[in-house]
Amino acid sequence: MCGIVGYVGHREASGFLLEGLRRLEYRGYDSAGVAIADQAGHVSICKTTGRIERLASALAGSPLHGSIGIGHTRWATHGAATEGNAHPHVGGEHVVTICHNGVIENYQQLKSRLESEGYVFQSATDTEVIAHLVTECLEKECVDEEGKDSQEPYASLVTAVKAALSQLRGTYGLVLMFRDYPGVILAARLGSPLVLGIGDDEHFIASDASPLAGYADKIVYLSDHQIAVVTADSVQVTHRDHGDVRHSVESLQVKTPAVDLGGYSHYMLKEIYEQPESLKNAMRGRLTEDDATAMFGGLNLTPQQLGGVKRIILTACGTSWHAALLGEYLIEEFARIPVEVEYASELRYRNPPVDPGTLVFAISQSGETADTLGAIREMKRKGHRTLAICNVVGSSIAQEADGGVYLHAGPEIGVASTKAYTSQCMVLALLALYFGRMRHLSVDAGMRIINAFHALPSKVRAALQTEEECKRIAAKYCHANNFLYLGRQYNFPTALEGALKLKEISYIHAEGYPAAEMKHGPIALVDESTPSVFIVPQGFVYDKVMSNIEEVKARGGPVIAVVEHGDTRVAELADDVISVPSVEEFVQPIVSTIPLQLLSYHIALMRGCDVDKPRNLAKSVTVE
Ligand code: GLU
Repeated sequence: MCGIVGYVGHREASGFLLEGLRRLEYRGYDSAGVAIADQAGHVSICKTTGRIERLASALAGSPLHGSIGIGHTRWATHGAATEGNAHPHVGGEHVVTICHNGVIENYQQLKSRLESEGYVFQSATDTEVIAHLVTECLEKECVDEEGKDSQEPYASLVTAVKAALSQLRGTYGLVLMFRDYPGVILAARLGSPLVLGIGDDEHFIASDASPLAGYADKIVYLSDHQIAVVTADSVQVTHRDHGDVRHSVESLQVKTPAVDLGGYSHYMLKEIYEQPESLKNAMRGRLTEDDATAMFGGLNLTPQQLGGVKRIILTACGTSWHAALLGEYLIEEFARIPVEVEYASELRYRNPPVDPGTLVFAISQSGETADTLGAIREMKRKGHRTLAICNVVGSSIAQEADGGVYLHAGPEIGVASTKAYTSQCMVLALLALYFGRMRHLSVDAGMRIINAFHALPSKVRAALQTEEECKRIAAKYCHANNFLYLGRQYNFPTALEGALKLKEISYIHAEGYPAAEMKHGPIALVDESTPSVFIVPQGFVYDKVMSNIEEVKARGGPVIAVVEHGDTRVAELADDVISVPSVEEFVQPIVSTIPLQLLSYHIALMRGCDVDKPRNLAKSVTVE
């Protein structure tokens, strides 16, 4: 969600700005823009709605020259996705030009005041108040005595920006350029990530490290309340309240630029097909047959602390929340530790009684999900240990948690999560084994679980062979307006995830339910035009799900069923059957998810939807 880039150095800024925005494209956005200052300090702005390529064409038609600039992809929160609302925004007579990620909660009060003082707003965004506030602070010389007396060339600039920021309530990742200070960009962060790339006589700014690969080897992560003063040959970081801080420079881990399509027509399809490999990567080096358990390098907790865990909270949003739900079933089953799954957006503002001995896992592919970050901060404030399960190395959640486990799934570009979801399920299954072996699970049971894990990538590869069948079924049902997804036990989360995938990319209304719950409401939706997708592998609840299929058929509803190879009973009832390999019940959700991903992909394609960039959605949800 929203990407910010900035450049100051000796090259044409537009090159990095456009490439950086392209690499941040996966986060989701609806419009984009850049501002570039020429040698005389005159700032020109180019903005477009839609894809970055439109911005690139506009810039190719009227190039902007200059070696300092900022750029932005916007995911609208305040004001429609129009060119006028796209960033950058300016304050005063181009006194300041800014790009902003986040939400300013008190923008309405600030806007009214600024308007009454004569500031004219050009957009409906909350962001524009920041531009005018900074202008006001610069014009009124809101500089403290320290700022006036300082020898630092940009001290008064920084104090004016601090004075403006102190009036804001909300979150921001912010880059600012100034008419009267032509060689400098200020970058400020509160709640939205920003990374600086250190080059030779040039510096880069971005929302995450991916745009920096190939441009800079060394990076600096800004922390909340920090402001960086960035020129071609210097970076100075200051804290809002504590003055200058010594920033730590880290080596950039992302060595290769963002991935290409590798012959696939969409990132989503490519990522679906990467799952045998991404699952292997989630397990790599984490299983030990000697002790029949899993092991993790980065939990940063002693065996005593882990052994003393009495309760686990798994907090997440969206698809990650579905993985968390499967995690609950697995951890409770294997380790007998009570687990609660919490929407991060609820947890952060609730005040639940949480006993000592509670361990909190925050699950987020990007590691930047604003609500999940808010939830772990709240839990840390209350003294609880927090661990992250993230894909993006060095992301905010990964950094702020006490420790954690990376998915190592590789970049996930498709907005609808696929490989990150199955890797999250995999990591949670590993954790369930780990906690289980610290408690009740025998060596024998541990080995049975490990063998099931090892077998999984090849079973997932075999499940990918359902694509042709999924395509055929997609053609049959792609015009439906409603779908139900139904599963029980381990496959209740699978039903939720299947429904979410369909909603996200095909815009068809879909609901996931525990199959038996259907009778308590959703069954009223069943008719001949509403397909029900049942996940019905062999196992403890097989016969129960069969009864639920009967109930749908009795009411004329079409049934699509995901079954295990060799199942013949379901085919007698269901209209369409997708058959996947048999695996142990506790990893079946990972295998059963594959055809559901493929089904939603093909339905979306047949409906002419933009699979990798579905409307209204952002990959990295950095606003709450
Ligand atoms: N709230 C700002 C807007 O609506 C920034 C949104 C973003 O983070 O992209 O323009």
